[in-house]
Formats: sequence, structure tokens, C-alpha cells
Amino acid sequence: MSSGCWAHVESHDSSANSFAAQTLDSFFPLFCNTRCTMPAHFAADCGRESGMTKFCVVSCIAAVLLAPCGLFAQQSPQLPALKQEAAAEVDKLQTLTQQMVDEIFSFSELGFQEYETSRYVTGILEKNGFHVEHGVAGVPTAWVATYGNGKPVIAFITDIDCIPRASQKPGVAYHDPIVEGAPGHGEGHNSGMAVNVTAALVLKKLMDEHHITGTIKLVPGVAEELLGTKAFYVRAGLFKDVDIVLGAHVESEFSTSYGTGNGEWSGLVSVQYFFHGKAAHAAAAPWEGRSALDAVELMDTGWDFRREHLRPAQRSHRVIINGGDQPNVVPSEAAVWYYFRELDYPHIKDLYDLGNTIADSAAKMTGTTVDHKLVGSAWPPYLNRVIAETQQKNIEAVGMPKWSDEDQTLAKALQKDIGAKVEGLKEKVEPLSEPVKKPTGGGSDDIGDISWNVPMVYLMYPANIPNLPGHSWANGVAMATPISHKGSTAGAKVQALTALDFFLQPQLVQQAWDYFRNVQTKDIHYETFLSPDDKPAIEMNKEKMEKFAPQLKKYYYDPARYKTYLEQLGIQYPTVKTNP
Ligand SMILES: [Zn+2]
Repeated sequence: MSSGCWAHVESHDSSANSFAAQTLDSFFPLFCNTRCTMPAHFAADCGRESGMTKFCVVSCIAAVLLAPCGLFAQQSPQLPALKQEAAAEVDKLQTLTQQMVDEIFSFSELGFQEYETSRYVTGILEKNGFHVEHGVAGVPTAWVATYGNGKPVIAFITDIDCIPRASQKPGVAYHDPIVEGAPGHGEGHNSGMAVNVTAALVLKKLMDEHHITGTIKLVPGVAEELLGTKAFYVRAGLFKDVDIVLGAHVESEFSTSYGTGNGEWSGLVSVQYFFHGKAAHAAAAPWEGRSALDAVELMDTGWDFRREHLRPAQRSHRVIINGGDQPNVVPSEAAVWYYFRELDYPHIKDLYDLGNTIADSAAKMTGTTVDHKLVGSAWPPYLNRVIAETQQKNIEAVGMPKWSDEDQTLAKALQKDIGAKVEGLKEKVEPLSEPVKKPTGGGSDDIGDISWNVPMVYLMYPANIPNLPGHSWANGVAMATPISHKGSTAGAKVQALTALDFFLQPQLVQQAWDYFRNVQTKDIHYETFLSPDDKPAIEMNKEKMEKFAPQLKKYYYDPARYKTYLEQLGIQYPTVKTNP
């Protein structure tokens, strides 16, 4: 809030996140029956061009006091006109949006190893005048890009990592990997930055042209599949000065939600247990050995017996990440990795404690020792009603993309191939529904930690095919095709329009914070799962990416030579086994 007039008139409220809303509005009721829609614009305009001069302050106040509301309305572009302009500008960037979708799809980088993706995205942002801070929160592939000045500060966040073994040729309606066994965008995170960067570039243009005060920030969801960074972002203070967070995630529908939404969110801790035993010849002197693998198996058996006596809301799963080396050596080292999911902090904490108890008991039984490492955590998300209601209107205004026959053919063929319900792509926008009374739990997302620190919503934009299993090659099929290109353009429009709502109607920022303080966090207070010693697990996936990156590199998308990634790969769109 650096501009003179703005600071001057709003100085009655200086608390960090409470955005002084009514500023000039508070003057207007004296003269106008109707609320002036663009006070922020006027203030910013004056402040930026005149600096903090006496003339500016005096002329600001004089103008406010003397001019009728309607005059300002004529002088300043109105919000609806700005929104129209924003949507048109997003359309003009369709080629860039498509290139970002395709390029990030081709990088196919696993969590914490998103080096190409981060270099590419920050390159675009830096070229367009954003200031980028690299390596934030102790995560080499994380960054914060900033543009603008003053309040409100609106942050855009979206994930960038992909899924192991999900490599898949886009536009092909059956399993056909680009590189066998390689990672791939089988979650669709490749489209998120296309949505947020497109929106941010358009907002920057409009802010410059119309002298709109405010700050845009972009942050990547690094290693979201590992629930690996956002609690660390919060701990590092990345959102301390942020007023509103607009998250975006790929979906097959166009929707937003508030509170606990459809109830299909869990929070979790992700913990790795490392057992240490004693090596020996497994046939000649097994009595000399102590098997770390035995401890892993006993821990897993112990957990599965106990599972029957846990609340139905819990969901827990594991993979053995080290089962020893070869059968004739008693395994001196073995490790197992658990996700413990529940509906709220106390229950997640209980599961975490129980996991530790069972691990210790398995170590005792086998004469081994154990230590554990927390490698991820997430609160269950809780989303802001004021922002969701504002966003919903923009979703309805933008509407679903127009799907072509080819898009529908691909969708139906894939649904048929995997044995899902064959219904093609969605054609209607989802209404905003009330949060369910009794959440059942389901997947997790570490945006939860952000949502308990700043008012936030999570836009679901329609860039994928419905009825897919998730986290698989099938979820990558549409992700570098016109389905994801069009869905990302639609998503970018909603992000831009919603940001404009909050930039130009400061009272909405206040209302969002009122909901956050008086409803969401009235009785529940955020407490991190992280201990002060916990660090981001930035070494994860390093070996896998080192193995696959050289093979994937041959298939990186080159937009200078090919219009689309489909064209580069020589894929006829759509490629289907049989016409459904
Ligand atoms: Zn995701």
C-alpha cells in the first residue's frame, strides 16, 4: 500500500491482513445512493502517477467530496467491462496456454525434481516483468513470482509434479507409454501453471493499463503428490502478507466449494520407518542375524490387525521402500512408508502416534532398532465461502468449453477401454453446493495447510475426462490435447475474473477474512505436524528422475517446430481402438 492517496485515506486500519475495505466508499454514502464500484482504481491511479504529494492528497479528497458517483463510473472502467476485457485477453493467449500445457506435460517431472518445469515457468514470468525468488522454503524447485504493489495481495497456487509410471501418449485412448515405466502427468498437474500464468499475465496487463493497485503472487505446488512442501511454505512465512489465495486444480468438471466441500478430503501424515538389524549368512548362520525385513513385515501385520479397531474415517496405506538386497543375506536394513489419513488434526495425530508404537513394538520383537522420518503432511482443506460464492458467479459466466466431436470420441473411447461409465465429457457447470454434514474423507492435498492460514478457494477447472481412476496413465490421456487446452483457457478466465473481483471490491477481502476468523477458525486453530527439525524431503525421486530424464528429454516439446505436442509426436487425434 505504497501509493499516497490510498495510504492516506485508509490509514484507519493497518493490521497486516485486514484489508481496509471501504476507503473511498466510506465517503460516498454522503453523496451517492449507490455504491461506487471502483474506489481502488481511483485511489491507485492518483497515487501512482502523482506520488505522495500534497496536491495528490488534496485533489483526491476534493475529487471524492465533489464529484458525483456517476462521473467516476464514467471515468473508470467498470468491473464488468474489465472482466470482459480480461476474458478477451485470455482468449488472445490461447496459443501460449496450449504451449505451457504441452511443454510441462512433456517434462514429466516427479515431486521435488521439477527443475525443467520451474525453469520454464519462471522464465516466462521473468520475461514478462515478474520478480522471481528461487529456492524458497529450502526447496530448490520452489519459487515465488511477484508483480505489482500494495494491497490486496492475491496469491495463485497450483501443482507441478507428476506420477510414477504414468507415461502416456496424449490423445491415445488406451495404454501406450511415451517411455515405458517412466513418470507421466497421470494427475494432470501439467495444466495448472498454464491456467495461473495465463491469468497472471492478463491481470498484469490490466493492472498496468488501468492502474489497479494490488499485488499478484504465483507459487508452485512442488511435490504435491508427496504432500511435501506446503506446510513448509507456511512455516517459512510465504503467505504472511497474502490476503487471498486462489488455488487451481485439474478436474473433469467446472466447480468450486467451501467449508469441507463434498467431504471427500482427508488430512494426513506421510512417514517412513527405517529398521536396522544385523547381517548374517541366511543359511549358514541365520541365528547371528537380526532381520530388518522381519520388522517391516511385523509392523505391517500389526497395523492390519489394528485397522479393524480404527474409525471408519481412517485411510492408511503403505509401500515397502527397502525389502533387503538378496535372500541369502539377512537384511540389515529395511524400510516401509506409510500414509496415515484422517479427518482432523487430533485423529491424524493419534494415527501417527499409533504407527510409531507399532513400529517400536515390531523392532522389539525382532531385536532391531527403528527410526522414522516425516516426509509429508497435510491438514484437510477448508475453503472460504465468500471467495467460493464470488468464484462461482465467474464459473457460471465463463461456462464449459465447447467440446468437439473428436474430444468426445476420445473421452468415450477411453472410458470404454478402462471399463468406466461411458458418458463422454461434461457439458454443464456444477452448482455451488453446501458442504456435506458428515465428511467421509478421501484424498489429501497439502493446500489444506494454506487454507487454515489464509482465506482460500480451490478452483476445479474442466481439463480432463470424467470417471477415470486417478493417479494413472489413463488420467494423462487428455492432458496434452484440445480437452486440456480448452479447459485451461476456461480456468484462466475464472482465475483472472475472480482476482479482479477482489482487486476492485476491497470489501470482499474483508468479508473473506471475517468468514475465516469468525466461522472457520473460531474453534479450530492451526497447528503444524512439522517438528522444528523436519526438513523438506528434497532428495526424494532424485534417482528415478536421473534414470528417466535422459529418455524423456528426446520427447520434450519444441513449440518452435511444432504447433502442438500431438503434432510433434505424430499422433492422429483422437487415436482410438474402436469407435464407441
Ligand atoms: Zn493433484
